[in-house]
Amino acid sequence: MSILPQHHHIIHHAAAVGRQYHHHRNHRVYCTSTTRIKTRPKLEPLVINTTPLVTVTPPKIDDPSLKSTWAHRAWVATGCTTVLISLANSIIGSIDSHIWLEPILSGFIGYLFADLGSGVYHWGIDNYGDASTPMFGSQIDAFQGHHKWPWTITKRQFANNLHALARVITYTVLPIDLIGHDQPVVMGFVGMASGCIMFSQLFHSWAHGTKSKLPPVVVALQDAGVLVSRSQHAAHHRPPYNNNYCIVSGVWNKFLDEHKVFEALEMVVFFKLGLRPRSWSEPNSDWTEEAETFSTTSLP
Ligand SMILES: [Zn+2]
Ligand SMILES: [Zn+2]
Repeated sequence: MSILPQHHHIIHHAAAVGRQYHHHRNHRVYCTSTTRIKTRPKLEPLVINTTPLVTVTPPKIDDPSLKSTWAHRAWVATGCTTVLISLANSIIGSIDSHIWLEPILSGFIGYLFADLGSGVYHWGIDNYGDASTPMFGSQIDAFQGHHKWPWTITKRQFANNLHALARVITYTVLPIDLIGHDQPVVMGFVGMASGCIMFSQLFHSWAHGTKSKLPPVVVALQDAGVLVSRSQHAAHHRPPYNNNYCIVSGVWNKFLDEHKVFEALEMVVFFKLGLRPRSWSEPNSDWTEEAETFSTTSLP
């Protein structure tokens, strides 16, 4: 019995090498008339990384994941109460002690601190860990999803967008309120900082809004630099995806980016811990924005 030569033609096509989502097409073309086909070892498909960082498909416009639940609303309510307790303590303490300048100044410093804090936190979760990271996994996953589909943040309901930070604020700031309630300067700082951090996701979603759809007062505050501007935050979603991390007022962005503060921190983390930030190696993977696909035809 004669065996004709077998031609195995295998095409591995990776849609985008280095991306988390790639498609493989294996075409095997057998040209043979033999009755005996040798068993060949099964070829493993080309897999660059089997752990997707984000959900593969964008959420639908009426996706439950964008809606607020009563648990979300409850956490936002406790977070707002916590912030209001801090501010009330500051005002009451100022009335009692007749000092006003220091609490107002410390409140302003709290507002500046919140922007810096939002930038450091955003940089951290954008660059390190994944969905399985303890404590921060869901936030990391959510921000990777945000880079993929930035427009979804504008479709998120209020409490859905704020509840995660509201919960953190409740846990951390409520004890400080109880301990430092008679310190108007401390309470001024804590109230403003925690309030701005909690609402940073609202300011962030406004930065993704269109001018015509945003309330005029929001546009005025963005233009004045009180809240992070749309143009400044848009730069975060453009290559090289390693700048403009601050999302409260954005006042720190210029300084941090010009002085390459985060790049320096990335070097420290790399040499001390051996961890590579995502921004070094994935400028065109998960950070890349997909075109808006909120249409009934392109949704699963
Ligand atoms: Zn980001
Ligand atoms: Zn954004």
